Amino acid sequence: MKKTVLTLSLAFLLFACNKKESVATSTDLNAKFDQYKSHFVDELWKISPEWASSQGFHNYDSILLLPDATNEKMQLQFAQSHLDSLKSYPLNQLSDNNKTDVQMMENLMNSFVFSINELKSGTWNPSQYNVCGSFAEILNGNYGTVDSRLRDFDLKMNNVPAYYQAAAKNLKNPTVEHTQLAIAQNLGGLSVFKDDLKAALAKSSWSDEQKNNTLAKAAMAIKAIENYADFLKKMDNPEPRSFRLGKELYAKKFELDIQSGFSAEEIYQKALSEKQLLHGKMFTLADKLWEKYLPKAQKPTDKLDLIRQVIDKISLQHTTPEKFQSEIEKQIPELVAYVKEKDLLYIDPSKPLVVRKEPDYMAGVAGASISAPGPYDKNANTYYNVGSMSGWSKEDSESYLREYNDYILQILNIHEAIPGHYTQLVYANQSPSIIKSILGNGAMIEGWAVYTERMMLESGYKNSDEMWLMYYKWNLRTVCNTILDNSVQTRNMTKEQALSLLTKEAFQQNAEAEGKWKRATLSQVQLCSYFTGYTEIYAFREELKKKEGDQFNLKKFHEKFLSYGSAPVKNIRALMLK
Ligand code: ZN
Ligand code: ZN
Repeated sequence: MKKTVLTLSLAFLLFACNKKESVATSTDLNAKFDQYKSHFVDELWKISPEWASSQGFHNYDSILLLPDATNEKMQLQFAQSHLDSLKSYPLNQLSDNNKTDVQMMENLMNSFVFSINELKSGTWNPSQYNVCGSFAEILNGNYGTVDSRLRDFDLKMNNVPAYYQAAAKNLKNPTVEHTQLAIAQNLGGLSVFKDDLKAALAKSSWSDEQKNNTLAKAAMAIKAIENYADFLKKMDNPEPRSFRLGKELYAKKFELDIQSGFSAEEIYQKALSEKQLLHGKMFTLADKLWEKYLPKAQKPTDKLDLIRQVIDKISLQHTTPEKFQSEIEKQIPELVAYVKEKDLLYIDPSKPLVVRKEPDYMAGVAGASISAPGPYDKNANTYYNVGSMSGWSKEDSESYLREYNDYILQILNIHEAIPGHYTQLVYANQSPSIIKSILGNGAMIEGWAVYTERMMLESGYKNSDEMWLMYYKWNLRTVCNTILDNSVQTRNMTKEQALSLLTKEAFQQNAEAEGKWKRATLSQVQLCSYFTGYTEIYAFREELKKKEGDQFNLKKFHEKFLSYGSAPVKNIRALMLK
C-alpha cells in the first residue's frame, strides 16, 4: 500500500480517462492533466500527512507537522501555486471527468485560502488540535507490520510537545463550547499512549530497551496533552467568541463546503416551506390512520399532536435486538430485486455488499454505516456495519428500536445500501478519479442517498399510508437539520427554540434533540448537506422531465447522473444539460 500502489492506480486512471474521451477534447492536454493530478496529490499528502494516512497512503505516517506560522505559509503557497497551475487547463478542452476534477481542486484551494485568511478557526476552536486520533489509526491499521507501524508511531511522537505549544500560541478567544470539547477529547484520547500502545508493543519483536524508550517518549506526549488541557481550563479568556459563525462567514463556508447551485439563504427558505408542506401531508395521513391505531381515543385538536400520537403507535412495530442484523441482511436482496424489477437502475452483481456486526473500534456509534475501501485499496470489501445493542439497557434498546421500527429500517437500508450510498459508490468507482475519491462532494453523496428514499417510495415500494407517514417523519429530520444549522449559526436561535423545533415539529425524542443541538453548536454547514443535495437532485430531475417529456427515462437519468462520480450536483447538471 506504499508508493507503488499510487503509481499503479494513477496509471489505471490515465488509461480509463483516455478511453472515455470524446473527440472534442484534447488527448494531449488530458494526458498532461492526469500527470499533473498525480503530482498534485503527491504534494497534497506532503502537507497533509494525516489526511493521506486516512486515505490509505502511509508514506508520511511518521510526520507530525506543527500548526504554526510556517505551516500556514506553506499551505497558502500550495493553494496559490495550484490555483495558478490550474489556469493552464481550459475546461473546454478537458474530458468531463477531468473538468469536474479541475472544479473540485480549485474549490479545495479556495477553501484553504478561506480557512487561513477568513475563517481562522485555529484561533477560536481548540478542539482542532488533537493528535490522539491519528496515533490511534496507526495502532489500529491493517497495513504494514506491527514493528513498522510502531516505528512510525515512535517518530511521530517527537513533535507532540512542540505541537501543543504551537496550538496554545494560536488561540486568541476560543469559544466555551469548543474549549470544553477540546479538553474532553484530548484527555479522552490519552489511552492511545497508555494501554493501546502497551498492547501493540507486546505484539512487536522489539527489544526491551526499544520498548522502554518508546514508553518514555509516550510519557512526554501524555504530559504535553495534559498540559494543554490544563492550559485550556485555566486560560484567561474574558470575552470568548460566540460559537455562532454569523451570516457572512456562514454563507462563504456554505458555498465552499456544499458547492451548491443555491445559496445558504435560498436553501434555508426552501427548508422552511418544505417543513410546512410535510406537516400538511403528514396530517392528512395521520388523520386517516387515527381510526385504525387509536379507535377509542379522543382526537386532539392540535394537528402536530395528532401526528405524534399516530407515529408513536406505528413505531411500536419493530424487530428485536437479536434479529436487528439478520433483518437488515434479509432486506438487501429484496431491495436489489425490486430495483431490477422496476428498472430503476443497473446494479452490478459482481460487487456484493458484506453485512457485518460493526467492529469494536466503531462501537458506541450504533446505527448503520457503510465502510468503503479507499483509493489505494480498491479491491477490498465494502461493508455495511450494523451496530449491536449488546450491553444496552432494555429502555435504551426499546427506544432505539422504536426509532428504527419496521418502516424506518427499510428506509435506512435504502439510504445506506440499495440504491443509496452503496450503489452510488459502485458507480463512482467506475469513473475512477483520485481527486473524486479524496474530495468527493458530501452534498452530492448524501443528497443521492436521501433522493433514493423518495424515489423508491414514489415507484411504489411497500406502498402504504404508514410507510409514507414514517418516510415523511424521517425526511423531516434532514429538513430540520438545515433549518437548525442556519438558525443557530446565523439567526441567534436559542437552545429552547431548537429543542422545540426538533421535538414538537420534527417529532424527535429528547435525547436525539439534545445531541443535535450540541452538534449544531460545534459544527457549521455540514448539517445542510443532506437536504441541499437532495433538493438539487430532485429539482434537476424534474427539470429534465419537463424538458424531455415522453423521452425522459428514469433509469437512464440515474445511470447518467451517477456516471460522473461524486462531483457537486451543479457541475453534473451543467454537463448533463450540455
Ligand atoms: Zn417495543
Ligand atoms: Zn448518508
